[in-house]
Amino acid sequence: MHFTPPRFAAFAPPRGQDHAAVVIAGGGLVGLTAALDLARHGVRVVVLDDDDTVSTGSRAICFAKRTLEIYGRLGLGSRFLEKGVTWNQGRVFHGEREAYSFDLLPEEGHEYPAFVNLQQYYAEAWLVEACMATGRVELRWRNAVAGIENRADGARLSVTTPAGPYTLHADWLIAADGARSFIRRALGLAFEGQVFRDRFLIADVVMQAAFPTERWFWFDPPFHPGQSVLLHRQPDDVWRIDFQLGWDADPALEQQPERVRARVAQMLGSRGDDVPFELEWISIYTFRCRRMQRFRHGRTIFVGDAAHQVSPFGARGGNGGVQDADNLCWKLAAVLAGQAPDALLDSYDAERIPAADENILNSTRSTDFITPKSDAARAYRDAVLELAAAHAFARPVVNSGRLSRPYEGAGRPAPDAPLLRNGRPDWLLRHTGDGFTVVSNGVVPATGLPAITLGQDFEDHSGLAAARLGLGHGDAVLLRPDQHIAARIAAADAAGIAAAHRASLHAVA
Ligand SMILES: Cc1cc2nc3c(=O)[nH]c(=O)nc-3n(C[C@H](O)[C@H](O)[C@H](O)COP(=O)(O)OP(=O)(O)OC[C@H]3O[C@@H](n4cnc5c(N)ncnc54)[C@H](O)[C@@H]3O)c2cc1C
Repeated sequence: MHFTPPRFAAFAPPRGQDHAAVVIAGGGLVGLTAALDLARHGVRVVVLDDDDTVSTGSRAICFAKRTLEIYGRLGLGSRFLEKGVTWNQGRVFHGEREAYSFDLLPEEGHEYPAFVNLQQYYAEAWLVEACMATGRVELRWRNAVAGIENRADGARLSVTTPAGPYTLHADWLIAADGARSFIRRALGLAFEGQVFRDRFLIADVVMQAAFPTERWFWFDPPFHPGQSVLLHRQPDDVWRIDFQLGWDADPALEQQPERVRARVAQMLGSRGDDVPFELEWISIYTFRCRRMQRFRHGRTIFVGDAAHQVSPFGARGGNGGVQDADNLCWKLAAVLAGQAPDALLDSYDAERIPAADENILNSTRSTDFITPKSDAARAYRDAVLELAAAHAFARPVVNSGRLSRPYEGAGRPAPDAPLLRNGRPDWLLRHTGDGFTVVSNGVVPATGLPAITLGQDFEDHSGLAAARLGLGHGDAVLLRPDQHIAARIAAADAAGIAAAHRASLHAVA
């Protein structure tokens, strides 16, 4: 492995009962993101994780633009850009031919690309470091939630540790304990959806290959007939190859290294690329698309895979979960600070359930297209792929994974744009996100809120900021702490902005 997983010391149980205002159960990608976000809003957090390290093996690699912007807000954006592999382009092959290629971000003027590929364990290791640096996050490794009572005043947790059990009362509990969530099951909450009858082999392969930094997807390639294959580049010369195997494949047999080596060699050989390679990780996965009916259950709130699960096609699992944290944390911080009523937290459900549904819909459609389950579905798919090679109209129908995009229903994240500040290149989103921010064009309404005034302290030299935010001279937008557009105020005045600010905190539509 190019990455040595850190081993964290187990947290010894406190004597007697313990209390914390906010507990996050699960220190995975989403739980750690939520911990960092809350800490940056000034909230002290206890994180319970049953393990003593970060994620192992092949999990998320594709971090989408919106997620990168969130990590930019949390102070980690440059690490993703420096270590990660940036890509915007993808190619889709059918048989021996290229069906078409696409560019996910053909437009200039964004700080972050469409995607950065990075192993999930790097992201989690940086999140742990960043959480510790805040001084507000207590990471309790090898502390497993083994019992829960959900009460009106919070959650009473039974926690087990190598040195014995203890009881912890959380005024607020964020359940981030993954797809098999103990908390969800212990509370008897349903997790309904679809199971797909197919198996995929994941091989993480170390090699100096000549493939460009693009997402390549093959339908029915000559080196793996009748199935599909996906190729992604990761940092450290690691390549992720997903081979569709079909439902009848024998997982034990298919994970034998010699068998995987033969598959990889065949793929490389078919391109005349006989480079040496090593296998870093092999696993087989099946997948599901499902979600809870509600994510908020009083003072226990579910995020990430604990709340919803999708197939990996489209890279929507981790990205969706990070966007849950983005949506929830400022609201919880505002409620804890007495700036907003408890009802603001209901807007988490109102905004993130439709987002989860959109991810599930896209992921389900991709999976249906990639793994057709009837002769008619396969014939339709193959006809679309044939047409796509010659005709642009058929290309939008090809579905090799509609890649993660932010949900744009109830509110949408503000688009980024280049600006000049004191003559130096800068970015709009870098100056938003610590709290509510007013972005206005030409006028400076005295609201007491942090403000970006185009044409005054910031020069919108390309005109992109005003164009993307739809700001005529004198107009303003109010951005929430999660960089979502809370309100547009034409001919902005301080009273209009103050009213929009109050309405956002009180979740008044
Ligand atoms: C093959 C594959 C490829 C993927 N590719 C992508 C991709 O490219 N992009 C993307 O966005 N997503 C991708 N995903 C999905 C992504 O990995 C998940 O959505 C993401 O890990 C969810 O994060 P989470 O924090 O919600 O859950 P997890 O990462 O599962 O974290 C849950 C944490 O809770 C802890 N825990 C569990 N039970 C307890 C307990 N009782 N008490 C205390 N702690 C507990 C666990 O140890 C773990 O640390 C992929 C997934 C797979 C399997």
